[in-house]
Amino acid sequence: MDLTSPKEIRSVQSKFGFTFKKGLGQNFLTSRETLDEIVRATGQGGGILEIGPGFGTLTQPLAESAEKVVSIELDERLLPVLDYTLAGYDNVKIIHGDVLKTDLHSLIKTEFPDMSVSVAANLPYYITTPVITRLLEEKLPVESIVVMVQKEVAERLSAREGTKDYGAITVLCRYCTEPEIVTVVPASMFVPPPKVDSAVLKMKVLPEPSVRVKDEKLFFKVVKASFAQRRKTLLNCLCTAFPIPKPDMARLISDAAGNPSRRGETLSLGEFAKLSDLIYERMNV
Ligand code: SAM
Repeated sequence: MDLTSPKEIRSVQSKFGFTFKKGLGQNFLTSRETLDEIVRATGQGGGILEIGPGFGTLTQPLAESAEKVVSIELDERLLPVLDYTLAGYDNVKIIHGDVLKTDLHSLIKTEFPDMSVSVAANLPYYITTPVITRLLEEKLPVESIVVMVQKEVAERLSAREGTKDYGAITVLCRYCTEPEIVTVVPASMFVPPPKVDSAVLKMKVLPEPSVRVKDEKLFFKVVKASFAQRRKTLLNCLCTAFPIPKPDMARLISDAAGNPSRRGETLSLGEFAKLSDLIYERMNV
């Protein structure tokens, strides 16, 4: 069954009386080439945790290259469809649930004992940021995260400092992974087509964070505060978030990053790390 064929998609739709729900981000991929690129990017063998299998379009080739695939799908109407489309695959397990409410640590432990694991997904766009933030902040024991997201989001996640796309989520992403845009996918490659183009982003999880910090929670707080009001200087942003007098904060910033009137988007990861360590020391005297 070729689920990338619009004719096959229509046939499955009519067999199950299925209509797409826009609110669940149901834009199904129809590009075989893109599926192959996602599978290649996740690597051969091991376990795959898939988010949002839809009709099973990506699940099928993943199951052909991986040892085991576990897919979490929120839409109950898709369960009988997936039973049908994945009937010939005995290494796939479908879990009905919301990825944002699933305990992924315990799922990985139970479903993939002694297996290297990667995450793969054509993500529903309405929850892209919370899903990626969760995957990164929870430090899941995974080797890579390969996701289809809006092109702009992929650019933001993989941006370089000093560019307009660089934000708190970029720093989080570069703190624990090495992000790389694998390919850009036009909106016309989906059924129904979304309003924007997409991109496949591979985030290779680093064995150790790219910078060392004394307190990781504080580091994330400093980063989020630095980007909270883009038109304000770093000094004003940080004074709003931390109970440190302005002259003292100015000194900490200048020790870590030079000029206190710099803006958050110009700081490198190393400068954020140094600044958060100085704030940590100042708050713990
Ligand atoms: N994997 C399929 C493909 O590539 O064609 C479908 C991708 S579609 C963009 C997103 C899928 O995620 C849909 O099947 C949708 O029902 C499912 N979904 C939406 N919200 C979800 C959630 N919170 N948890 C798990 N799955 C969700």
